[in-house]
Parts: sequence; C-alpha cells; structure tokens
Amino acid sequence: MPFTEITSVQGDGGNYKVELLKKARLVDPAVCNEMGECIDVCPVEVEDEFNHGLTKRKAIYQAIPHNTPKMLLIDKQACTKCGECVKVCTTNAINLDAQDEVETREVHSIVLASGVKLYNTREFEDAKSYAVSPDVVTSLAFERMMSSSGTYEGGVIKRPSDGKPAKKHRLDPVHGLTE
Ligand code: SF4
Repeated sequence: MPFTEITSVQGDGGNYKVELLKKARLVDPAVCNEMGECIDVCPVEVEDEFNHGLTKRKAIYQAIPHNTPKMLLIDKQACTKCGECVKVCTTNAINLDAQDEVETREVHSIVLASGVKLYNTREFEDAKSYAVSPDVVTSLAFERMMSSSGTYEGGVIKRPSDGKPAKKHRLDPVHGLTE
C-alpha cells in the first residue's frame, strides 16, 4: 500500500490488528490520465531527489521515470496550493484538500522489511570532496547522469557545475591527468 504508514499493531501471531495511516496523495490515480499538463503549468520548482539534486522537478510530478502505473503525486511541502494544476486537469483527478485516512485491518502475519536510507553526502564531514566541488558525484548520481531517462538528454555526461560535456582524460602515472 503506497503512501501508507503503520501507526500501531496490537494482538499476537495469527491475529493482529493493524492501524494504518493512508496519506492523502492529492492526485487520484484511478482518474488521472497522466497527460502531464498539470506539471507544465505548476510554477514551483524544487530539487529532484530522484536525480540526486542534479535537476529540478515541479511540486506535482512523477516520482520515478517509467513507473507503472505512471502515477503523479504532489509534494505537500513544496505546493503553494495556487490551483493552476486543478484548472488544467480535464479529469478532475486533483483534490488539493484531500485528507489523510485511518484504516484498521486484521491480518494473520506481518513481514518486516526495513528498507534503506541513502547516505547524504552533504551531511557528513568525511565526504568533504562532495561539498567542495559539484562535479564530484556519487555512483547513484552518476547512474542518473548516464541514464537515457536521466539528468541530461540522451545520457550525455555533462559537468554539473557548468553543464559542459565532460572530457576524457588519460591518467599519466608520473604527471597526473593529461589532455
Ligand atoms: S497547486 Fe501545487 S501542485 Fe498544483 S500547480 Fe500550484 S503549486 Fe503546483
């Protein structure tokens, strides 16, 4: 269940009562036709976390390229509720006032999957090279740079600092990098 948090678990093996907080996603995936006019008109731009901050995205956006189904969502922190997306949506899929819902389910078993939190290179002292040069990127950011659906058209690798294509250098063991 996407957009859902477990807020409490009661009971014992084979007989659990789980309380779920289903967060309002503001775009109804059953109605949205994914045409994207709402994205075009949205005036708010923020860092695109999927591209590791190398590009911007709108407050209404597709979180991951090629996700199936292609669901759009609204970043509640970034959205100003200007209503521009609502005006252009021909299927009335957007409800900016949608509220979170609480649901209780009875289940027999629970599978724990902890997931991972990505290392934030901007937070740590031992990652200074990332802070001093925007052209030093993590392997995940580099994957986004090389991807055909990534940060730069056609997977052309460019320097994040100035957008110029990266050059190929030869590593000379005596003199260091050479053209
Ligand atoms: S209401 Fe929010 S998501 Fe819609 S266009 Fe305005 S800022 Fe963007």
